[in-house]
Amino acid sequence: MPKNKFWYIALILCFVLILSGCSYHFGDAFSSDVSMGDSSSSESSSKPKESSSNAASDETSDSSSEEETASSEAEEQQSSEEESESSSGEQASSQQSSESSESSESSSAVEGNVVGKTSKGYDIVVKDGITYIDGAVIVNKTYTLPKDYAPGFTGGTYKAFQVMQADAKKQGIKLEIISGFRSYQTQQNTYNGWVKQYGKEYADTISARPGHSEHQSGLAMDVNSLKFAFADTKEGIWLAENCWKYGFIIRYPEGKEDITGYKYEPWHIRYLGKELAKKVYDSGLCLEEYFGITSEYK
Ligand SMILES: [Zn+2]
Repeated sequence: MPKNKFWYIALILCFVLILSGCSYHFGDAFSSDVSMGDSSSSESSSKPKESSSNAASDETSDSSSEEETASSEAEEQQSSEEESESSSGEQASSQQSSESSESSESSSAVEGNVVGKTSKGYDIVVKDGITYIDGAVIVNKTYTLPKDYAPGFTGGTYKAFQVMQADAKKQGIKLEIISGFRSYQTQQNTYNGWVKQYGKEYADTISARPGHSEHQSGLAMDVNSLKFAFADTKEGIWLAENCWKYGFIIRYPEGKEDITGYKYEPWHIRYLGKELAKKVYDSGLCLEEYFGITSEYK
């Protein structure tokens, strides 16, 4: 009898083992199928989509787009909706991270490796792959961000915009973000779209290569319109005259194209914190001149 019982239990154990082995395999096959679908097919089907729609939207965003004024009126409207949606989606993360990074942003002491000095004597500090000068994150054609750096709005940027927006509204000026944080991947699609459309040489004057976009820093945004004509609207004029009071600068000013590496963008503002923004504004210099750095692809 005990012997019988033993065999009975052994049989059950075998059965259970076989079953679990099977389900393991099924599970494997199933999950690898799913991930295949996710990473290859659905990604590849969504990527081109992103690049085509973002190419239109994002594009517009960092572009000069005189050429695309009439053609993309509707497209632009749609795209700015998309973008404001995405920027509001990023608000949560921006607000979460804003407190902690605000202090590091405004204080000039970022602890990292000092890798050199600018021509104006500032330390160039690198921490976690990010370059800082006088506490400010530096991103341009010379200085990159890590591929996986995706903070959303940071450093009090979104809060500062909200304060500016509210003050502007009291004066009858309507400001809205049409493009905020952009990931490395989005920027890659954006840039590639421009290259396809205009060729590399021109694309480099209106759009950053991935890893080189200030939008990836979470400290920059495009406001209201992506047309040069924005500069002459009451909103554009107000922004240029007042944004420094809230900690922003017009990052790519007119007449500084050879230094910033980009065409004039009256809509692109960069958050530096009030103190530094005022200094840069008062100097009449662009950020590269102010710190004594270059903006050139290597
Ligand atoms: Zn921009």
